[in-house]
Amino acid sequence: MSLAGLQMPQPMRNMLRDALAPPCGVIVVASDTSADRAATMAALAKPIAEGRVRAGTSAELQALSQQDCDMLLIDGAMDRRTLEQAFKIAEAGPRIVLGMDAADTMAAMETLRALRVDRHAIAFGLRAIIAVRQARRLCELCRIPDQARGSEAALLGVDPGTVIYRAAGCGACDGTGHAGMLSIYETMAVDAALRRLIAEGGDAAILSRHAFLNTPRLSGSARTLAREGAIPAHIAIDIGRAHMPGASGTGGDGVHPHLLPSFSQRLDGGANPPLSAPLHGDRSSIG
Ligand SMILES: [Zn+2]
Repeated sequence: MSLAGLQMPQPMRNMLRDALAPPCGVIVVASDTSADRAATMAALAKPIAEGRVRAGTSAELQALSQQDCDMLLIDGAMDRRTLEQAFKIAEAGPRIVLGMDAADTMAAMETLRALRVDRHAIAFGLRAIIAVRQARRLCELCRIPDQARGSEAALLGVDPGTVIYRAAGCGACDGTGHAGMLSIYETMAVDAALRRLIAEGGDAAILSRHAFLNTPRLSGSARTLAREGAIPAHIAIDIGRAHMPGASGTGGDGVHPHLLPSFSQRLDGGANPPLSAPLHGDRSSIG
């Protein structure tokens, strides 16, 4: 799969193309598991000339960096030493694409900082962070249109009564209601302003306010996909909860966590069933 094959909005793809242009620097690909990001990492290597990419684990970083190549794809457990090594190698090139277990772009950034990687090294070496999350795609042949109810509508950012879709099941999808997986992306481009904020040690709220000014967060992308009927509404709501900017700062289109209790009090005071999961799916333990 090439960059063009990634199911991401064109502006995100353009940003990645720019991030890959210099022959040096670090690009982080974040997801829950390495399997979830394998296709994305492979796509990032596509624009590089054939035979000029080396791939391996974090333990192999040093050995691989001795080889003449244009890109290193590195996945596996990352400790401070490995990360600092990666940033050091990427200073002069080759480019390094680092796969990291992190729920979203800010969580990956927080991991880098929690491991106390030098913030100037991050600021000057990091080109972009891409977070990818897999979700089951609704079968278009049998998905059932329904109206978003009160709390559901609020969490999806739509008016109550807006048409959303739920899974059903048919012959084409073996009765599952789903047809394969799709990838939901969040990208953080390290531009000059963000570079300065990182170097100055800006906190997550400040970084995400800048980073997500013009690009959606995972939660926003998931809500859009739900409104389009590509994924079930409840999945978008789960993603919204899991990626609440509590741990990752307040940003972009995310619902601010402190607003949620009043949301639910107001909305669940009516005929709507209470939210089934706790509102604070808090990940603030990171860091
Ligand atoms: Zn179906």
